[in-house]
Amino acid sequence: MLGTSGSTPTKERGLPAAAITYNGKVYLFDCGEGTQMKMLAHGVNISRVEAIFISHVHGDHIIGLAGLVRTMALNNRQKTLTIYVPKGEEKTIKNLIVFDRAIIDYPVEVKGTATGIIYRSEGFEVSAFRLNHQITTYGYLFKEKDRKKFIADKCRSLGIKGKMFREITQRGSITVGKKRISISSVTLPQKGKSVLYVTDTRPCASTEKAAKGADLLIHEAAYSDAQKALAVMRKHCTAGEAARLAKKAKVKMLLLTHISARYKDTDLLLSDATKIFKNTVVAKDGYTVEV
Ligand SMILES: [Zn+2]
Ligand SMILES: [Zn+2]
Repeated sequence: MLGTSGSTPTKERGLPAAAITYNGKVYLFDCGEGTQMKMLAHGVNISRVEAIFISHVHGDHIIGLAGLVRTMALNNRQKTLTIYVPKGEEKTIKNLIVFDRAIIDYPVEVKGTATGIIYRSEGFEVSAFRLNHQITTYGYLFKEKDRKKFIADKCRSLGIKGKMFREITQRGSITVGKKRISISSVTLPQKGKSVLYVTDTRPCASTEKAAKGADLLIHEAAYSDAQKALAVMRKHCTAGEAARLAKKAKVKMLLLTHISARYKDTDLLLSDATKIFKNTVVAKDGYTVEV
């Protein structure tokens, strides 16, 4: 978690951004002001960013792009940077990139997010779903593909080793000596991991559906339950509302973010949430979790 405040920063919390590191590459979710500083502070390599997924174009979620794309240019980035933003708002992002005629000589692609799968990579895909906020906003689901895990003892006893693993993976079977061994006999299915990034929004049925059984739900909790009227009016969530969603969707862990600057102490948010869903953490900048 790179930035865990909402609307305005505090001394402790920067503006929204989260990074998923997967296979040595970095995928950013939102890019609030100061995100590049937080990346430096928390050891997230700027040159490894492949794609950025923007939830919506409120300033607190996008202003950091202006600085980040320039630093990438100064670092002699060559490879394409892809930025996803709710369809129709591509121009807003392009303006942030070109406003001062900075020389950005690597390709920046700005793509419109719509519901469904928007990004595919080896090993995972990212899909988007609509949220309920003041302007068009999307939540993102990062979903790893299901995999097969080799049963070490069984492979050893059957003499499968070295390059044979690749062969059996590609062909679905292998012949060792005179014996034909199918991949299903030496592997166990391993469900892919899933992580959701959901901010800013009221509680949504679309989130509940996308989050079913997820390993980690990163969800906004701008307010405590006592401020529910404010949450409704500004189209945000309370900690208890986020927890209820986590419980309904049976996720494994809930990570609260986009905390209003009014909460110097987040114990209240934590107790609102844990009354309903036990495995909740209120994120801090720099908070890291392995899924
Ligand atoms: Zn916000
Ligand atoms: Zn917003």
